[in-house]
Amino acid sequence: MEKLSNPKVTIEIIQKYNFAFQKRFGQNFLIDGHVIEKIIRAAEITKDDVVLEIGPGIGTMTQYLAEAAGEVFAVEIDKNLLPILAETLAEYDNVTVVNEDILKVDIAALTGGRPVKVVANLPYYITTPIIMGLFENHIPATSITVMVQKEVAERMQAGPGGKDYGALSLAVQYYAKPEIVANVPPNCFIPRPNVGSAVIRLTRYEEPPVKVKDEKKMCSLIRASFNQRRKTLVNGLGNAGLPGITKESASAALEQMGLSPTVRGEALTLEQFAQLSDLI
Ligand code: SAM
Repeated sequence: MEKLSNPKVTIEIIQKYNFAFQKRFGQNFLIDGHVIEKIIRAAEITKDDVVLEIGPGIGTMTQYLAEAAGEVFAVEIDKNLLPILAETLAEYDNVTVVNEDILKVDIAALTGGRPVKVVANLPYYITTPIIMGLFENHIPATSITVMVQKEVAERMQAGPGGKDYGALSLAVQYYAKPEIVANVPPNCFIPRPNVGSAVIRLTRYEEPPVKVKDEKKMCSLIRASFNQRRKTLVNGLGNAGLPGITKESASAALEQMGLSPTVRGEALTLEQFAQLSDLI
């Protein structure tokens, strides 16, 4: 069959099945083959790879993944898409479509615990829980190459000091090296999203780039530090109600690190948050 990246083919399939787009599932389907090729190239997919695709939709990117990868597992929540996927993926015998919620499915069981490359045009409403779930549940994902809202991609990649830098930047950068590989305008999708999009590749570190005694404690500190952005770090942490952490202990730890007591969270690097967590 001619590829779905041809908008005419996508429209025909949608009409044939009388498919109604569901906003609540973040359904914006790609209709640009060049963008899909760019994603596959960025993910460096080869026939040796097992790919996990989150939200195949009508199977537009899945067709390309099936041709490039050894095996593809595609997890789709919307059961109305299953008959469409059965038709659009009929000629590929290396694709398994699973009708599940990606936030609930046991990925390791699905893929037999093998290392996977995650590739997706993500449903934007759950970008952060999906990415953090993949990292924190220690799924053997060697890389995650995904389309996300442009602002979110910029936050993931941001370094200290700027307005985009925050808890998401630090959380992502603790687990992976982020690289924005393409900006994608709304006219590459049906229907067009109201926001700009970007493709970001997150390459998982084998070892985190910083050492910290208590990972969970550091994460709570980071979240508390950015909860009230305009406050100093000492005030933010002092008011957060974290066990054993007071304005005084925060201030003392910063002094030991040679930082000003009026410093804000956005000035600290990941390494400094790790140091703070060990000291406080
Ligand atoms: N991959 C397709 C494409 O690029 O044309 C569709 C991408 S669309 C932005 C997001 C897809 O994720 C939709 O098909 C939607 O139904 C699916 N989806 C939304 N929430 C999901 C969830 N919790 N688990 C699995 N799939 C989900």
